[in-house]
Amino acid sequence: MAPDGPRVHVIGAGLAGLACAVALARKGRPVSVYEAAGHAGGRARSFRDARLERVIDNGSHLLLAGNRSVFRFLDHIGARDQLVGPRETRFPFLDLSDGRRWMVRAGHGLWPSWVFDPARRVPDTRARDYLSGLRLARARPDATVAEVLGDTGPLYDRFWRPLAVSALNTEAELGQARLLWPVLRETFGRGGWAARPLWAREGLSEAFVRPALKRLAHWNAEVRFGRRLKDLEVTDGRVSRLIFQDDAEQVAAEEAVVLAVPPWTASLLLPGLKAPNEFRSIINVHFRLPSAPRRIAQPLGLLGGTGEWLFVRGDVASVTISAADSLLDLPPDSMAAPVWPEVRRALGLPADTPVPPVRVIKEKRATFAQTPDQVGRRPGPRGPLRNLFLAGDWTDTGLPATIEGAVRSGHTAAKSVVALQRGS
Ligand SMILES: Cc1cc2nc3c(=O)[nH]c(=O)nc-3n(C[C@H](O)[C@H](O)[C@H](O)COP(=O)(O)OP(=O)(O)OC[C@H]3O[C@@H](n4cnc5c(N)ncnc54)[C@H](O)[C@@H]3O)c2cc1C
Repeated sequence: MAPDGPRVHVIGAGLAGLACAVALARKGRPVSVYEAAGHAGGRARSFRDARLERVIDNGSHLLLAGNRSVFRFLDHIGARDQLVGPRETRFPFLDLSDGRRWMVRAGHGLWPSWVFDPARRVPDTRARDYLSGLRLARARPDATVAEVLGDTGPLYDRFWRPLAVSALNTEAELGQARLLWPVLRETFGRGGWAARPLWAREGLSEAFVRPALKRLAHWNAEVRFGRRLKDLEVTDGRVSRLIFQDDAEQVAAEEAVVLAVPPWTASLLLPGLKAPNEFRSIINVHFRLPSAPRRIAQPLGLLGGTGEWLFVRGDVASVTISAADSLLDLPPDSMAAPVWPEVRRALGLPADTPVPPVRVIKEKRATFAQTPDQVGRRPGPRGPLRNLFLAGDWTDTGLPATIEGAVRSGHTAAKSVVALQRGS
């Protein structure tokens, strides 16, 4: 089917831009995607690392089976089989401060039988402690996770706090409590199956980027790399021209523009836009192990150490350190030094195993800081110009800044474009 109708110009080929472009192109809309970098994927991408001689992700990404927008996107691009995880919903943990290990095993159904079973829930907690999660639904917009849940003892230390840091990439003392509620509602609220952890089998690019680009080519959508948008020309309250570094693109009367760039770029292009302007980093430390561990229950939650999650793909072990701003200035070797003994313990490797080749990746602005104040700065999908729409994990999706949020924002923008062009 040849594309038909007014063209949609999508700026940015991160997952929000790709999801938006795919949703439109598969319906036969002409789509052009412009990406500043030489590759797609934005903050979720893979590359071959010369030191490790392996393909690694810029950061390990944890997804959940209840991420419905992610699965819709994967179905659109024919890549559902790229996500893998355990058959049951289970999260193994290791407390590095005392060596204690446990496994939260949530089962499949809606009835949370696991909270009544001491062997399946967080150690030293009681079934009634878990009711505290309901407080998130009623939390005031200005309340932090620590203010709402900080009195829940071991459940806070071993569940709520790590969940907050992972899901919000913000310290529990500062992160907005209310933003955690949709995470619970869309996972445990739909049944234990929806909280099942998943990750990309061969890497983020194989799961999301390569199949999306392939489908876009199949639907005759254009994807142009190395095209950095510098300015928007405005005529009669609508975008009429896209000004790139080296050239420009006309935007005809019925055409629409979706800005799927990070908030700092959107704010430069649209002076006066209220958008998040504080950020948190994520550091990933990737080790190439002497050999691939035979069996590891993962992702392994780490408490009392430097990072929060350990993922293993083949012979590469990767530790994620969220809200890592205090570590950003450390040289890579000083950062890897305390992490290696933690990985060694987690994997049960002999104490004299030398530090293997390591790659440290610092993503300085991994997400916006999900504090009450910053959450209040998220704009909706309608831009300040008639034919302009916004997408990205930082827009007001109602979800934390995650792949699920980015993809959902892309789908929402696509829907809004179609509604505008239909005249509704
Ligand atoms: C290390 C790390 C770990 C993470 N872990 C998780 C996790 O475990 N689970 C999870 O769900 N999420 C995780 N996230 C968050 C997730 O990666 C993001 O929410 C998601 O990738 C954001 O996608 P996006 O499309 O909104 O933005 P981006 O990926 O930032 O895409 C924006 C795109 O716009 C392009 N661009 C910028 N300026 C211009 C311009 N002027 N002209 C043209 N193009 C431009 C950029 O190059 C980029 O490709 C993590 C993020 C990081 C960095």
